[in-house]
Amino acid sequence: FSINMTQFQLEEELGKGNYGTVRKVLHKPTNVYMAMKEIRLELDQAKLNAIIMELDILHRAASPEIIDFYGAFFIESCVYYCMEYMDAGSLDKLEVGGIPEGVLGRIAGSMVRGLKFLKDEMQIIHRVWTCAHNADWLDLTVLDGFADVKPTNVLVNKKGEVKLCDFGVSGQLERSLAKTNIGCQSYMAPERIKGESQNNLGQYTVSSDVWSLGLAMIEMGLGHYPYPPETYANVFAQLTAIVHGDSPELPEEKFSEDARDFVRRCLMKVPEMRATYAQLLDHPFLAHDRMRNVDMVGWVTRAMSERDKKARERHQQQQLLLQQQH
Ligand code: ATP
Ligand code: MG
Repeated sequence: FSINMTQFQLEEELGKGNYGTVRKVLHKPTNVYMAMKEIRLELDQAKLNAIIMELDILHRAASPEIIDFYGAFFIESCVYYCMEYMDAGSLDKLEVGGIPEGVLGRIAGSMVRGLKFLKDEMQIIHRVWTCAHNADWLDLTVLDGFADVKPTNVLVNKKGEVKLCDFGVSGQLERSLAKTNIGCQSYMAPERIKGESQNNLGQYTVSSDVWSLGLAMIEMGLGHYPYPPETYANVFAQLTAIVHGDSPELPEEKFSEDARDFVRRCLMKVPEMRATYAQLLDHPFLAHDRMRNVDMVGWVTRAMSERDKKARERHQQQQLLLQQQH
């Protein structure tokens, strides 16, 4: 069946990214809540049609670790992309204070299974297009972030399920996205920053996604991005640290040697040295995790209430500031 805008009742905004806005919507014919992402593109009809056709392969992406895709349509120059609504949101907003090891293990397991599914069944790797092939990498402008493995693209629901979204399926869509300057948080592997990660078909390799997975895990374990803007004068200093510095590690005080080794195997600087998804699934960190009893539902409930409390406090502070100004 096909979906269109008249079938939806719009609810609250769920978040904004570099390329669009995500909104909670009710699909009236089925009474199902969905998340609708609006991506603004200046394109002709033929290219828009190509995008919708390419997105169609998402209907095949049925896996417990992948967000369900319901359909896409366009109005004027916007693509509207409808997907499963995850009622606890993305992990970047739940990680504050650092995610404990047991929960991190469950998240890692879901992410590795999801990424392996996308690679084996759909031949998808999370891609980012860099324009750095010939240029000095310090000058690069990149289309960063749209299809990255990073905490904003890992979603959770109140049942404690963890699923991936925003993987690059549509080459046309990615080519059409406006190029922005690099964001302040890069999850790109060193070889991708240097612009040397493509094989001779111009495709990125899976090992670059394994790096991003490792970096996302460090961020979730620490509760913040591991190359914080306070430490680096600018984005280039930050990228230099990613390329030339030692890889970050999970802190010894909070994490077991198994957890730390798992992440180390993802964050090898040389792509060929990184673990494969199959090796990661066999790693003791995930093997032991399967025997452990982890209360995901309890953790989601606590992390959400913490997040919402912080949001209310921020809101009150803003109101106070506004009152003082008037
Ligand atoms: P970027 O533009 O760099 O990829 P992003 O991933 O945060 O950043 P979007 O993909 O536009 O940007 O998503 C914006 C926010 O909307 C996300 O951070 C997430 O919190 C929320 N969101 C996205 N998809 C869903 C969904 N299916 N269910 C619930 N919340 C969602
Ligand atoms: Mg996203």
